[in-house]
Amino acid sequence: MKNIPSVQKSASQPQKLAALRQAHQDWNNTPDVLTRLTRRLSTTLSLEQQLAILADELGSVVPFDTLNYRHRIGKQDFVYATGMGGPHRCEYRLGLEGANYGTLSLYRRQRFSDQELEGVEMILSAAICPIRNACRFIAIEQASLTDSLTGIPNKRAMDDDLQRASQLSERHGQPYSLILCDLDHFKTVNDTHGHVVGDHLLQIAAAELEKAVRTSDSVYRFGGEEFAILLPLTGEQDAREVAERIREAIMAIQVDAGSKELRVTTSCGVATFLPKETAQEWLARADEALYRAKHQGRNCTRVFATIS
Ligand code: GH3
Ligand code: MG
Ligand code: MG
Repeated sequence: MKNIPSVQKSASQPQKLAALRQAHQDWNNTPDVLTRLTRRLSTTLSLEQQLAILADELGSVVPFDTLNYRHRIGKQDFVYATGMGGPHRCEYRLGLEGANYGTLSLYRRQRFSDQELEGVEMILSAAICPIRNACRFIAIEQASLTDSLTGIPNKRAMDDDLQRASQLSERHGQPYSLILCDLDHFKTVNDTHGHVVGDHLLQIAAAELEKAVRTSDSVYRFGGEEFAILLPLTGEQDAREVAERIREAIMAIQVDAGSKELRVTTSCGVATFLPKETAQEWLARADEALYRAKHQGRNCTRVFATIS
């Protein structure tokens, strides 16, 4: 590697700038794997891209057939793999300051020598801080899309998914339905039993909604005591049946609230995506159906009907 001339503090400004230009050129063209690795890793917060860079730089020093990385971040299992395996393996649990940032395994046909393992460790120790940052970024992204009380996706996640669903439905002509559920007289529940019981009930309601729908459907906490369910490949009639199932599941919730009876019901509004409408218009139609359910007695389902 080229020696970068040290610049005296007393050097003139043109000398300092010339030295900086030289350092910049060397930094960009360095054959030093650690400098290049850390420079490349600093260009992205995507864990997937970072692992691709790590695999590339690691492979230039210690050849391997497969790199496998897995880590559970919040509720999500993150898995990254390149290549096709091999009988010999070295495995590292990546950790920093007591926290775990995943497990990385390399596989190949030949044994790894001690010098090679030392090389892998040097490269991993240079990569661990950027990998930690990328893991934290995923965790923060997840938190920003999750409701903290119930642990289900929040309104922000719903807005994103609704937008995507309306684009997909538009492009492929597949039906998507939306159900809005608003718990009935929830203010009275809070007033009678207190906020703690109210919060507990919201947690149970979220879990019941998730149980009542298919795994391909998504449940969101849309507002205070309001939930939304997005149903891919589901038309108006099927969505109505799901809404009714949800309504019955909420009605069946039993919470021990001492001597006072605690009963909770929900009103549901259903709308199936119509071609050419915006996600906001779709949501407004589901809200309109919910409004009708509220005004026609609560504890019922109304559909914004588009087929006769
Ligand atoms: P309606 O049948 O018309 O929907 O009546 P409602 O009382 O459910 O509706 P309203 O909009 O008047 O009140 C909503 C209530 O939901 C009031 C509010 O305190 C409660 N709520 C909203 N978010 C939370 C929460 O996070 N925890 C608890 N415990 N209550 C909440
Ligand atoms: Mg409400
Ligand atoms: Mg309500």
